[in-house]
Amino acid sequence: MGNKLQSQVAIVTGACSGIGAGVANALATDGAIVVINYPSDHTHDAADAVLNEIKSAGGRGMIYQCDVSKEDQVQAMFAETVKQFGTVDILINNAGLQDDSPFTEMTLAQWNHVIGVNLTGQFLCAREAIREFLRRGMQPEKSVALGKIICMSSVHEVIPWAGHANYAASKGGIKLLMQTLAQEFAPKKIRINSIGPGAIKTPINKSAWDTPEAEVKLLTLIPYGRVGITDDIGKAAVWLASDDSDYVNGTTLFVDGGMTLFPGFSTNG
Ligand code: NAD
Repeated sequence: MGNKLQSQVAIVTGACSGIGAGVANALATDGAIVVINYPSDHTHDAADAVLNEIKSAGGRGMIYQCDVSKEDQVQAMFAETVKQFGTVDILINNAGLQDDSPFTEMTLAQWNHVIGVNLTGQFLCAREAIREFLRRGMQPEKSVALGKIICMSSVHEVIPWAGHANYAASKGGIKLLMQTLAQEFAPKKIRINSIGPGAIKTPINKSAWDTPEAEVKLLTLIPYGRVGITDDIGKAAVWLASDDSDYVNGTTLFVDGGMTLFPGFSTNG
C-alpha cells in the first residue's frame, strides 16, 4: 500500500462496478477512506463486494446508496460522509450511463435520463463537494490543495459519436463544466480535472470487446494495440488526486491508448 492519499476522504460515484470500482480500490490502496456510491437496491451487493475487497486489503470506507441525479439524495450523501468521516477531500464524479438511439428516434426521456445522470449528477456532486471544501478550510497535514475533483469524462468530449447524441452532449458538457469550475475555484486552491477514458473493459461497453471479432474491430481505433483496463484509470485517478499533480488544473487527461489521435489518418493522410 502507498500513502499518497493517507486519511483523505474520497466519494466515488457509481463505484459498484467498472471504472468506479477500480478507482475506489486504487484510492484505498493509497490510503484514502472511500465512500462507494451505488444507485439502487439492485446494485447494493455489488457495492458491498467492492467495500469488502477494500477492507480485506486493510482499507477503510462505507457504501452509500444515492441517485446522483437527485439533489436531496446527493446532499444527504455528503452530509452522511461528513458525519461519518469528518469531511470530504476528493470527489470522483464517475457515475454515468448510456441510453443509445438513432437521433430521430431518441425520446425526450432518453435525452433527460443521460443528461440527468451524466451531467446534472456531476453538477450536483461538484457543488456539494466545493461547499464542503470551503466550509472545512485547509488541512496542510493532508494536502496542499483545499480539495480535488476528478470528473469522469470520455474521449467523446472531443470525438462526435453518431447514435449517441445524448451521451456525447453530456461528455462535451462535462468538459466546460470542469474547466469553468477549475477557473472559478483555482484561487481557493481547489483543483478540478477530468479523465477521458478511451475503451476500457467494463459492463458499459461489453458488446464492444467480449468476442474476438468485436475486439479486433475495436482495436482499429486504438493505436497502442490493446483495450484498456480499470487499473489504467485507477492509476491516473490516484495521480490526479494526489499532490504529485499539484500544478495540474482544468485539464482532461486522456487515458485512451491514442484513440484521440485520429487513427484513421495513420495510413490515409
Ligand atoms: P459501468 O456501467 O460499470 O459504471 C457506471 C456506474 O454508474 C455503475 O456502477 C452504475 O451503477 C452507476 N450509476 C448509473 N446511474 C447512476 C445514478 N443515477 N447514480 C449513481 N450511480 C449511477 O461503466 P464504466 O465504464 O465503469 O463507466 C464509468 C464512467 O466512465 C462513466 O461516466 C462512463 O461514461 C465513463 N467512461 C467509460 C468508458 C469505458 O470504455 N468503459 C469510456 C469513457 C468513459
